[in-house]
Amino acid sequence: MQDQIESAIRAGLRILTFTDHLDLDYPYDRCPDLKDGAFDLDIPAAYSSFSALKEMYAGRIELHFGIEMGLLPYLGPTYEEILAEHPEIEFVIGSTHLSSMPADGGEIYADPYYLSFFENMTVEEALRRYFRFSLECVERCGFFDSYGHLDYIVRYTPDKGLTYKYEDYADVIDPILRLLAERGTALELNTSSLRKGCMEPNPCRKILRRFKELGGKMITVGSDAHRTNEIAADFGEAERALRDCGYDSYYVFRNRVPVEMRL
Ligand SMILES: [Zn+2]
Repeated sequence: MQDQIESAIRAGLRILTFTDHLDLDYPYDRCPDLKDGAFDLDIPAAYSSFSALKEMYAGRIELHFGIEMGLLPYLGPTYEEILAEHPEIEFVIGSTHLSSMPADGGEIYADPYYLSFFENMTVEEALRRYFRFSLECVERCGFFDSYGHLDYIVRYTPDKGLTYKYEDYADVIDPILRLLAERGTALELNTSSLRKGCMEPNPCRKILRRFKELGGKMITVGSDAHRTNEIAADFGEAERALRDCGYDSYYVFRNRVPVEMRL
């Protein structure tokens, strides 16, 4: 955590929010590179480390304690309970990291991060399935402040999103955007795809524009850094994308209250 703060200060950030993962019911049995419980954040331990650093860095950078919660349609009430127990959490990203898949006459959840997700489907079928599942998650879970990396799956398609066009999935993506706009939920602009060989952030510019057209107002910006040197990566590109799409500000959350920051 301290290395990440130092890296953020070097990158010129004035505000940094930590959003470590809590992905309940993540299918570890199908993810050989992950140890069981890798995304089960120990909130009290994380907050204790955070608090010590917040004190140490007071006056040098504004630090916030957030969380990224991995959505499944039935997990809303469980996550709401966790948030009620932890008022120290200042910012909540809700993200669809999994998608349902047919298997053995039933359904399983799988992460499109793994190429095996695409094995028995065309890219189009995989994307459609993921977006439908994302819509179901957003319909049934409304507790989060910002929806994480919509079109996340595009980073992991075998062609790195080359053939992906928002228009082909607008019938499923627009209802997601409409719901977020109606609820006053923010949409996250996530720059991770740019360092994974994609041309666009998640979501792509067309979705950022469409969100605004449908009444969406707030964008939060994240680098999805899983390594210290990825903190604030491609934030210049994020700013360009926001300006291209007609935004002149982005938002940060303090104690779950959105604060507008001019570009
Ligand atoms: Zn994520």
